[in-house]
Amino acid sequence: MENIKTRLKSDISRPATEISKWIFQEKVKMLYRNNTQSWLLSILASSIIAYLATGSDNLTAGIVWWLAFVAFSLVRTWNTYHFLRLFKNNAITDFRHWFNIFYMFTFIAAVGWSAGGFIVGYGQDSLSQIYIFIVLIGVSAAAIPLLGVFQSVMLCFQITSTIPYVIFISILLGEQGIILIFMFALYMLAILVAIRRMDVNLSESLSMQYENSRIVNSLSESNQELLYANEKLATLSLEDALTELHNRRYFEMQLELEWKRESREKKILTLIVIDIDYFKLYNDTYGHAAGDDCLKSVAQILKSCLHRPADTIARIGGEEFVILLPTIDTEGALILAQQMQQQLNLADLTHATSPLGDNVTVSIGVASVIPGENVTALGLFKAADKALYKAKVKGRNLVVVGEMEILEP
Ligand code: GH3
Ligand code: MG
Ligand code: MG
Repeated sequence: MENIKTRLKSDISRPATEISKWIFQEKVKMLYRNNTQSWLLSILASSIIAYLATGSDNLTAGIVWWLAFVAFSLVRTWNTYHFLRLFKNNAITDFRHWFNIFYMFTFIAAVGWSAGGFIVGYGQDSLSQIYIFIVLIGVSAAAIPLLGVFQSVMLCFQITSTIPYVIFISILLGEQGIILIFMFALYMLAILVAIRRMDVNLSESLSMQYENSRIVNSLSESNQELLYANEKLATLSLEDALTELHNRRYFEMQLELEWKRESREKKILTLIVIDIDYFKLYNDTYGHAAGDDCLKSVAQILKSCLHRPADTIARIGGEEFVILLPTIDTEGALILAQQMQQQLNLADLTHATSPLGDNVTVSIGVASVIPGENVTALGLFKAADKALYKAKVKGRNLVVVGEMEILEP
């Protein structure tokens, strides 16, 4: 838990450089996304400027400018879609490079607008020049939401596309030009404030988004770890640590489950209870550690005799094991019990002080029943346990079949 907490903490306080890198990438992405439709504005506005050249000496130059500008806008749009395609395929590695390309295109576009103003407006009457001025201001205002993601890009566009033309017509207009410059300065000021606000808000919301996604990731990882730990805990609480067989708890759960299943399907359920003979003597002779090893070996030998996944073996006490055999009757269980005794014999687990011989032996009690209303799972266990007791009394190293107690209806 402590580990999870510290990781969460360190995840949240990522280095600032990583956050700013992510924010930069997001902004570049926005910049390109915002500009998918800008060609429409470019073509419309440049057509108006070109139209203002009709009837003047600037018509040919205006048309050439317009054609060049439209061609350039299309190339710029192609570049935007190219970026978006690469981005979709996760093929963008150097965002700085793509930012520079965008910056360059923006600068060329701004120069283009300015050039258009000069080419079409030069030598024309004041009204046409004012019209051109209005179109250029309109274009620069329309560009705010598109380019405002980066202050630098926006300023580059504003300054290059409008200021040279404004100075040009202010000079031509003489005294009135001063008013125009004053008005333009106010407009620029308003734009600067707007861009600044936009940038701050955008950066704040992006860094919040970044933190949120970090926290969500980190929490989901921690959640995974907790799930894993829970699973592990659940397994551990159902496993016997010494023999790695199931434990008593698991056996009880399984008995209940199989009891229900067999009673639904009207099939027989058999239980075998196994106890090592004279195990206290074994411990006394070889020590507790050797006793533990012996328990592990017996567990493995008993387990190796089972071949069906449905069979459950568990260690339910010190040197006591149970085996639950769904759909196996007493005869089948007796064969299995004998096989277990044979395997133990073959394993040559020496028990020199046993009154029964040189090897470790086990006593086995067996009980079978078709679960129904007049019998219980506990009754099945008691029957097998009683049979085991009988085997002990009769002299040990024996298999005895028990009788089920039938309840009164
Ligand atoms: P019986 O033939 O009647 O079953 O005799 P027994 O000696 O096997 O039975 P008893 O119940 O008198 O003794 C069981 C012994 O099992 C006592 C205890 O020291 C030992 N034992 C129980 N759990 C463990 C264990 O985890 N490790 C070891 N080494 N010994 C254990
Ligand atoms: Mg014993
Ligand atoms: Mg015992």
